[in-house]
Amino acid sequence: MARTNFYSSEYLDRVSHLRKDSTWLNEQLSSTTTRLLPVWQHNNLVKGTDIVEAAILEISHVDMLRSDDVGPVLLGLIDGTAYFTLDVSHIENPHEHELLGAAGVFEDLRKVGPYIQHEQGNLLAYARGINYWHQRHRFCGVCGSLTQSEAAGHQRRCSDASCNAVHFPRTDVACIMLIHDEDRIIMGKAPRFQGKMQSVLAGFLEPGETLEDCVAREVMEEVGVQVTDVEYQHSQPWPFPSSLMVGYRARAVTTEITIDPIELLSAEWMSRDELKAITPESEVQLPRKDSIARRLIEEWLAEG
Ligand SMILES: [Zn+2]
Repeated sequence: MARTNFYSSEYLDRVSHLRKDSTWLNEQLSSTTTRLLPVWQHNNLVKGTDIVEAAILEISHVDMLRSDDVGPVLLGLIDGTAYFTLDVSHIENPHEHELLGAAGVFEDLRKVGPYIQHEQGNLLAYARGINYWHQRHRFCGVCGSLTQSEAAGHQRRCSDASCNAVHFPRTDVACIMLIHDEDRIIMGKAPRFQGKMQSVLAGFLEPGETLEDCVAREVMEEVGVQVTDVEYQHSQPWPFPSSLMVGYRARAVTTEITIDPIELLSAEWMSRDELKAITPESEVQLPRKDSIARRLIEEWLAEG
């Protein structure tokens, strides 16, 4: 494949075999080269305006920044350097904090993502996603007792010895699909879309369903169109808060659109010529550049 999707982790070695190696972990936590990415209430620490970069701290600050119950989470290695993330949500006003305030500002990655280079986009998305999971899984879903982080932050274990349930980071799988009929595709507008943006259709996988089933069901539910030839394209981590987007193409068997008014405000067939003619002034705008939706559309446009 020519390129991978934004937020994918091609640059990062996740070293999952080292997460329980306390000797190795302690070496990394005391090394002067190890780096730390703080996350505050789901926002990442960044710096710069025109070009936005991750604001990355030295690991030596971890004891000053951590709370009693949240420790650093190992992200992995880049060129031999270890990267950890730390949730600093307990700090009341981080922008007035001596160290954090001087290092950068906490921003929503959904807002600044398109201005960040790929390698850092992945690190920031990963840090945001895993800290979100920790925040939402402090109690055991089986018995309600407190849970404790282990394996360098990649699992949580119930503190009740008789339960002892282990909980792993959760990813919600969503299908996203470009539905084509010769020289046109379906573009829809969901209530959550901002401004004039329209996009391909998407929806969450349900228990007991294949991804291909999910594509066909979602398209039928949202626009009443029957599809065939469901073909996988590529996928994208989308940790806003915890999704994986799995990209497909499918061919329409029926073409009359009947929208589900709860899921969509509108949906229409748009031709290649119409899509290629979109300018910043047009009544329809394409999805953001860092999204798999945009890539699915651009790849299809490039074929005709
Ligand atoms: Zn439990």
